Amino acid sequence: MAKPMPQKKVLKSRDLSGLADYIASDKCNNIVLMLGAGVSTSAGIPDFRSPETGLYANLARLRLPYPEAVFEINFFRENPEPFYTLAHELYPGKFRPTVTHSFIRLLAANGLLHTCFTQNIDTLERRAGVPDDKIIEAHGSFASQRCIDCQQPYDDAKMKRKILAKETPRCETPKCGGLVKPDIVFFGESLPDEFIRAIPNVAKADLLIIMGTSLTVHPFAGLAERAPLACPRVLVNLDVVGSIGRRPNDLVLLGKCDEVVRALCEKLGWGEELEALWAKTEAKVAWEEEAEAREEEAETKAEEAEEKHEGKAPTAEDVVGAIADAIGKKLNLEEEDGQSDDTTPTATPPSKDDVSTKDEAPVADPAPGKL
Ligand SMILES: [Zn+2]
Repeated sequence: MAKPMPQKKVLKSRDLSGLADYIASDKCNNIVLMLGAGVSTSAGIPDFRSPETGLYANLARLRLPYPEAVFEINFFRENPEPFYTLAHELYPGKFRPTVTHSFIRLLAANGLLHTCFTQNIDTLERRAGVPDDKIIEAHGSFASQRCIDCQQPYDDAKMKRKILAKETPRCETPKCGGLVKPDIVFFGESLPDEFIRAIPNVAKADLLIIMGTSLTVHPFAGLAERAPLACPRVLVNLDVVGSIGRRPNDLVLLGKCDEVVRALCEKLGWGEELEALWAKTEAKVAWEEEAEAREEEAETKAEEAEEKHEGKAPTAEDVVGAIADAIGKKLNLEEEDGQSDDTTPTATPPSKDDVSTKDEAPVADPAPGKL
């Protein structure tokens, strides 16, 4: 006769209702999350790894020797323009957090979030209002940057201006002049100390929710194995991945992250609160878009005046910029073709001309303060 399973059943039922009951119970206090690209795709951020619609496919037009070169430190040192083209496309502030990001904020507000591990570099968790000290960006993020030679940090506002202007930022330490790179982890670089230090947090989880990840990138994927046996592990994804389903308290919820999250919040009675939090992220993005458009316009004018004065010829950066624009337009077209949902932001920001004529932009509170 087979021995009884050593793990006891924690979820009343292995479905959405069982999960909601557990979250609402006093047994669930420390939720650990593992997030992948699937959490951000509904924000319009292209998935890196998808060959057709992914960023790599678009970057191929920049004549990279192979697409992954854009994230290789040696290649970057020789030719940083393709990376900065991508940075311009991906730059935080151009995308609105998703409902799933607002769900994470809600977990934090309810005192249930222990740690949010994310593989995403888009900083949408922060932008949705998840407290910084709950977020572990396993592959780094665009939130800070430094010189790749002397490691000197570089100013956030300057970095933003450079990326939006499609310029390559350079270290300002006297006699250095090294390239400045956002603190996102390139191939061959070690993962942030912050991530390594936070790995033991998974052992404290009484619920692990894994969302929108293929669980193929290690060591991130290995976090799921560190959850205690009594901790239910929930996978929210389009497909079954990794080892989730092997333990008695594993639960697989197939579907789009936003849809599953909405259904779960309905069961929990959090539906209205979730939508209210998400609505706030729209106003924030609209405000930032307007501010950026004004900033860009002022800079373009200043640059034009300078160019007139110097009569300078187009630089390599201008050429890359033109290519980036073309990619942006292509992405925009694909978005429009593929979707009729007009609340979904496009994959690329409108150009400054579009912003000034944009009719659906809601009037936003001019105060950019924290949510
Ligand atoms: Zn330097």
